[in-house]
Amino acid sequence: MSPVTTIKVWAPLAGWSTPLDEAPDEVFARRMLGDGLAIDPISATLCAPCDGELLVFAAARHAVTLRTPEGCEILLHVGIDTVGLGGQGFEAHVPEGARVTRGEPLLSFDLDLIARRAKSVLTPIIISADSGCRILKRNLDRAVAVGDLLMELAPAAVSRAAAALDPAPALPHTRRVTVALEHGIHARPAARLAGALRSLAAEARLTAHGREANARSTVALMALGVRHGDVVEIGAGGPDAAVALDALAAALGAARAGAAATIAGSAPAPVAAPPRAADGLLPGVIASRGLAVGEALQLRRPELAVAERGGGASEESAALARARAAVRVRLERRTMAADGEGTQPARDVAAAHLQLLDDPELLDGARASIAHGKSAGFAWRAAVRAGAAALQALQDARLRERADDLLDLETQVLLALAGSGPGAAPAPQLAENTIVIARELLPSQLAGLEGPRLAGICMAAGGATSHAAIIAAAMGIPVLVALGPEVLSLPDGTALLLDAERGVLEIAPAGERLARARAAVAARRAQHAALQAAAQRECRTADGTRIEVLANIGSLAEARAAVQNGAEGCGLLRTEFLFLDRQTPPTREEQSHEYQRIADALGERPLTIRTLDAGGDKPIAYLPLPPEDNPALGLRGIRTSLAYPQLLRTQLQAVLGIQGPAHCRLLLPMITDADEIHAVRELLEEVRRELGRAVPIDLGVMIETPASAVLAARLADAADFLSIGTNDLTQYTLAMDRGHPQLAARLDALHPAVLHLIAGAAQAASEHGCHAAVCGGLASEPLAAPLLIGLGVHELSAVPTVIPQLKAHIGSLRVADCRALAARALMQGSAAAVRALLARAAPPLPDPHA
Ligand code: PEP
Ligand code: MG
Repeated sequence: MSPVTTIKVWAPLAGWSTPLDEAPDEVFARRMLGDGLAIDPISATLCAPCDGELLVFAAARHAVTLRTPEGCEILLHVGIDTVGLGGQGFEAHVPEGARVTRGEPLLSFDLDLIARRAKSVLTPIIISADSGCRILKRNLDRAVAVGDLLMELAPAAVSRAAAALDPAPALPHTRRVTVALEHGIHARPAARLAGALRSLAAEARLTAHGREANARSTVALMALGVRHGDVVEIGAGGPDAAVALDALAAALGAARAGAAATIAGSAPAPVAAPPRAADGLLPGVIASRGLAVGEALQLRRPELAVAERGGGASEESAALARARAAVRVRLERRTMAADGEGTQPARDVAAAHLQLLDDPELLDGARASIAHGKSAGFAWRAAVRAGAAALQALQDARLRERADDLLDLETQVLLALAGSGPGAAPAPQLAENTIVIARELLPSQLAGLEGPRLAGICMAAGGATSHAAIIAAAMGIPVLVALGPEVLSLPDGTALLLDAERGVLEIAPAGERLARARAAVAARRAQHAALQAAAQRECRTADGTRIEVLANIGSLAEARAAVQNGAEGCGLLRTEFLFLDRQTPPTREEQSHEYQRIADALGERPLTIRTLDAGGDKPIAYLPLPPEDNPALGLRGIRTSLAYPQLLRTQLQAVLGIQGPAHCRLLLPMITDADEIHAVRELLEEVRRELGRAVPIDLGVMIETPASAVLAARLADAADFLSIGTNDLTQYTLAMDRGHPQLAARLDALHPAVLHLIAGAAQAASEHGCHAAVCGGLASEPLAAPLLIGLGVHELSAVPTVIPQLKAHIGSLRVADCRALAARALMQGSAAAVRALLARAAPPLPDPHA
């Protein structure tokens, strides 16, 4: 037997070598990124621990990843929570992509500064779990000098060979469960299963139909082809095995509790295609109902050429990593996009694609091809197509449709590799009333087409639950799928009547038929436009009480949509969009620029700018927020801003600098007492004086904690207006996590306890001459409008698309009736009882899409 060559890792720093368990960060201590050790440093220059290529140099210069010639990836992370220093105190000595030799200085750092500002100077040295290398030996608990031997590793091939000799170790914990998920393990449940393991130190596998899948791999899980009622065996090992077993069993049984709100489930159920009909008619499957008349434009998926041979494993790995990073940024942006109802499916799809982007099976496949000399593009395509083929071979139509998502991701990464921006194909220019035809439309293609000119979509293949169809349905665009290859032979410009009520595409219909269909489409549009036009008027109840209807927005595009839909201003600008997905905070200039554009889009309408609501479920990479057992109850909202006053000061400077007619006001999130308001007001006054701004700005507080609702009278003394955030108020009042899938159905802002708090806050505001608004999700439910008005609320801030309907509904209400209704609602014992009461009282609501 030939001797096994090991990889030696030499100390990159002088100091004391210690087990990872000492790291005050569970990501390292629980080996979520891989195994290794840590050094408590006494030297301040990080040197290469072996020869290799510098695969990644973190933007904040605090960490590097080195790839050895054997393909082992080693992460060197200087200190804990040092990303928040934003590069301060770090100096890079080599560029990303450089080849380095053992002992070569990679970066220097200011040890004192890190000791003062970061959580710890302890420097983890991690052998990436993904690269398949195994640690054979490590020198722990001793003083080390730079260049001393630290660890010995078995390279991936050796590890695999060794693993092949020993059968895969049986996992110690097993459980057999019957899958209760309505549609089996398709994309969302697979993502949820993989997600359930993310923070656990456990290896887990699912076995079904004689096949086994890594439970962290969405693709492998889907490829098991598990359907409702199948029995699967879950196996788990590692320190968190028992928790992993419970989490996986719960995720597989989630449907039983009625919580399997899947992307696929949110689309209309596939309707059987009618048999092929006479000439000029193509039967299809309705994926989104509606009627459209327009001209055909065929969209072809870009077939990207990729070279088979690569330019070396390290170059190709780095190129793939960069391309995936570019696609990740774009997808993450999409998951954070608008909060209008129509974009929720698009956000869900982007989240599912994000999960696929990091799928371990895909990455292993691509890495193996790259190791065999293939280019990054070739390797990625091969890995994705293998995954897609496995899905396409399944019997379940819903799972077969998920292959589209993989192919979409293939295109996005290949485009990013080819350098065409962050992975989106250039969108064609659409003429008025275009009906797009495609074999299968990908979500990323649809993203580029969104707009009023897109009248309808026809797909030759595809399914009613394909993600593009779901997004289109949410946008109100009629879609027919499974029309067959005939549809692809239609020349561009062909007149079409897409009847997604009957499930038929009419090709070049007779003039009279076309005219009638056009009239029907026009009538529907007119109805919608009438509601939008009526919404441009000031909102009053039927008996003349003024109720202001504003919009919740999170971007310039949404500000424009708000105005178009008749918003009388912005009641909540979520400024997080400027702060998330980046390595450094936005500068004052950047913020001023964005706020000014939004203010300009609103003209003279009021603009309510909420200060950064970071922390909790909105973590920010560059803030060294402490790890928290319960982030929803931790440093979030105004607490974060007051903990980082420079961040708040910059934001206040940017807001106070807004020019023009806009009437701006500030809103503070997560307030619990008056002292927080005083602290912000003091800083605000200081900034106002510095900027020489004469006019003070109104300062409002969000009522979204029970404390602030109970204390509303005192807060109303200190603030200029109150705005009730029913999303968080409900979460904290009911003690139910707002993101908990199994509690989603019970997390209802119409719970009488929440209504009592709203009533108290509205009354306190009125007694103190202070304006009371609602900006949480309840304001976007027209059904709840009479109740909120009856409780004393005078301003509703809703998602832009709902405003025409909301205003029309308010116009039909009488305040005395609203008060009587509110009084009855406050006497109910459950949210369900309140909903039933409102449903009985509600006159039919105008439907904007009818
Ligand atoms: C709320 O909590 O109701 C609210 C509007 O704030 P967000 O949803 O941004 O937490
Ligand atoms: Mg909130």
